[in-house]
Amino acid sequence: MTTSQCMSAPAPLSVPVLEMRQVSTAYGPFKALFDVSFSVGEADTVALLGRNGAGKTTVARVASGLVVPTTGQVMIDGNDFTNVRAYRYAKAGVVHVPEGRAVFADFTVEENLTLALSRTRDRSGLRAALGRAYELFPPIAQRRRQLAGTLSGGEQRMLAMARVLVDAPRLLIADELSLGLAPIITDEVYEVLARIRDTGTSLLIVEQHMGHALALCDRAILLHHGSITWQGPSTEAAEVVGASLFDTTGQ
Ligand code: ATP
Repeated sequence: MTTSQCMSAPAPLSVPVLEMRQVSTAYGPFKALFDVSFSVGEADTVALLGRNGAGKTTVARVASGLVVPTTGQVMIDGNDFTNVRAYRYAKAGVVHVPEGRAVFADFTVEENLTLALSRTRDRSGLRAALGRAYELFPPIAQRRRQLAGTLSGGEQRMLAMARVLVDAPRLLIADELSLGLAPIITDEVYEVLARIRDTGTSLLIVEQHMGHALALCDRAILLHHGSITWQGPSTEAAEVVGASLFDTTGQ
């Protein structure tokens, strides 16, 4: 793939929920992103693809305020959020389900949810929010009194998603949800994401394995060594990118 194949994605027509403008970032002396520019519009669905170490997680962290760019801008709903703290992104409806098992292992499912949901709610609001979480993810409803650390990988992923999805976010950023999951469980997780997409929530889905992400999302962005090398419709992504890019060797 060459950079001449880049930048064919149609720009969203309204003010984007998220826009990155020439974002570069570094971890100490190591530069992780170079001039990354893209946007995610209202009800837009974008798959962020690339090999190990390409910079996908870093983009997801910048998009949710967890990593501050060294140069460039991050806009949320047309407002400059470049140096804004992560909780303000969450308040603006930008939520992030991180890679891995982001749950409190020694707390029950219900305690995990209560911790996340009680901050902004009274008792009846919390009951309603718990009800919505269990409605979204029936498998964890059956395990509400079980310690989160004893759940399967897929159930832990659902619990991590439930904590942020109850409030119907504007933009959901999900990082490697399929990592370590059996294919059948990945299917279930992606079915939930499709339901969330169908309610109008915008999606930025980070995935190393492109099948599920491309089926879910209308558009795709390809990262390579910290730069966007292609973006366009998901229907063209598989052909452009080629399966060889998605091996797990990072070569
Ligand atoms: P993976 O699929 O392996 O998670 P990725 O595409 O999400 O890869 P990132 O995790 O964003 O890539 O990492 C991009 C680069 O930044 C990699 O070379 C990685 O080693 C480096 N990196 C990531 N986090 C840190 C950190 N906290 N400190 C130093 N370097 C980091």
